[in-house]
Amino acid sequence: MSKQVTIIGGGVIGLCCAFYLQKAGYEVTVIEKGDITDGTSFGNAGYVSPSHFVPLASPGIVAQGLRWMLSSTSPFYIKPRLNVDLIKWLMTFWKQANAQTLQRNVPPLNDILQLSRELTGDIKNELGNHFRMQEAGCFMLYKSAAVEKHEIELAKEAAQFKIDTRILNAQEVQAMEPDVQVDVKGGVLYPIDCHLHPGDFMRTLKTHLQKAGVKLQLNTTVTGFEKKGNTITAVITDKGKFNCSQLVLASGSWLPVVSEKLGVSILLQAGKGYSMTYENVARNLRYPAILVDKRVAMTPMGPDLRMGGTMEISGLNSPILVKRAHAIYNGAKAYYPDLPVDVMPKEKIWYGLRPLTPDGLPYIGNHSKYNNLVIAGGHAMLGLSLAAATGKLVEELVSKKKTTIDVKAFNPERF
Ligand SMILES: Cc1cc2nc3c(=O)[nH]c(=O)nc-3n(C[C@H](O)[C@H](O)[C@H](O)COP(=O)(O)OP(=O)(O)OC[C@H]3O[C@@H](n4cnc5c(N)ncnc54)[C@H](O)[C@@H]3O)c2cc1C
Repeated sequence: MSKQVTIIGGGVIGLCCAFYLQKAGYEVTVIEKGDITDGTSFGNAGYVSPSHFVPLASPGIVAQGLRWMLSSTSPFYIKPRLNVDLIKWLMTFWKQANAQTLQRNVPPLNDILQLSRELTGDIKNELGNHFRMQEAGCFMLYKSAAVEKHEIELAKEAAQFKIDTRILNAQEVQAMEPDVQVDVKGGVLYPIDCHLHPGDFMRTLKTHLQKAGVKLQLNTTVTGFEKKGNTITAVITDKGKFNCSQLVLASGSWLPVVSEKLGVSILLQAGKGYSMTYENVARNLRYPAILVDKRVAMTPMGPDLRMGGTMEISGLNSPILVKRAHAIYNGAKAYYPDLPVDVMPKEKIWYGLRPLTPDGLPYIGNHSKYNNLVIAGGHAMLGLSLAAATGKLVEELVSKKKTTIDVKAFNPERF
């Protein structure tokens, strides 16, 4: 067995793969087109959340999505376009959004979330908590009776997976957030969830990997591959050729673009989201919270506060739709009316591209076309939550070990 691994993509998935592969004794190279200082893995909401055990493709989501499409300030948008990959993705998503598929997909998603939650704690213990990890739990807050009913049903479902929850009324939520006014009907607290500063997490991993001898080949774009039979022998980039023994594709929303160069088709769309970070907030939140009626995520990060949301399926692009980003702010103010923050100017709004699979489960596994290829991507809204487990599973796949949990459900060739 060769002890050399090349990883394409230096997002949180690529870096966690590098972390576990290096620990297992591999000589690791990460090829990254940027410099690992920004991107989707940096500005996200920072949740490591086993509470999110229901995949995106679930019953009712298509009808809800169609209703949202009618409003320019809703949390969901698909840019209408005649694109074969988008149409294929949408058709598959629609087929997956049913009760039977959901029932099949919840247990494997729960398994990988639980494993990753535990491993993220181990990473903190090993590298030190340089990324403001806090094990405070996360609120699902609601204003309407319909959302309350749905969230309480979810809390009951969570109990089946031994996930502890606390259902709280408005006064109880307010008592836990004494510094700001909270205007809600109630909420469900998931004590198992934790949160951290994702940018600091990435910087901690980057520093550790560099010290441990992992080669970070930055500002280098992969443009092609060399193959011999069913073995990938080299990665071609704009900075030259890199021989490779084992290859891990972890290129996030660009997974289909890179895999296509290997003749491997991956069904995936980018889902753009925004976040806004307020520094040194005078009266900050004590708990992270998802404002469920508005689909807004609130995360206190030490003295700072981040709010994020929206899902725009509009391709691999960067324009910021200010109206939708401001709807995040308005959503936050509807829940916390006296929160001391102002509308964020456009130039300070961050965006990231979530790599979305049509069923909400990631792609983690070998690809049958090659004998030295592992795919690790499509983590959608859960990339940070699932990064540690993905890294560990990828190391086990590369090493041809029995994986800690069954990875069948994450087969990258399932569509
Ligand atoms: C607003 C928002 C909030 C979110 N909140 C959370 C949260 O609270 N918790 C959670 O778990 N997840 C959250 N997510 C999702 C999470 O951020 C993503 O799932 C995760 O960052 C994906 O990581 P990745 O490594 O797969 O992709 P990326 O971070 O995008 O990394 C892929 C890397 O591959 C590189 N690459 C691409 N093509 C090439 C090429 N040809 N050559 C070289 N390099 C290449 C890219 O430059 C990029 O750096 C959120 C996302 C958004 C947008």
